[in-house]
Amino acid sequence: MENFICPECGSNNEGNRLLLNKEISGNDNKDPWSSVLEQISCEDCKSIIPAHIAERWDNMNIDTAKKEWASLYKKDNKKQKT
Ligand SMILES: [Zn+2]
Repeated sequence: MENFICPECGSNNEGNRLLLNKEISGNDNKDPWSSVLEQISCEDCKSIIPAHIAERWDNMNIDTAKKEWASLYKKDNKKQKT
């Protein structure tokens, strides 16, 4: 049922899922994480991954997910831990 694939290590071992309660500001989109409202940690490599990347919403394929992960989200993922 779950569709989790870690774009970092390829694991399907889903860790904690976290819903973030924050407001999205339309003007401040310099940080791609600012619009992430749901994130999932990878149980194996401990990366924090936006849910839409990890589960590839809107039929995103795994290559696109990995590219977006690497170019947009990977750099700051460790800061997302709460
Ligand atoms: Zn991983």
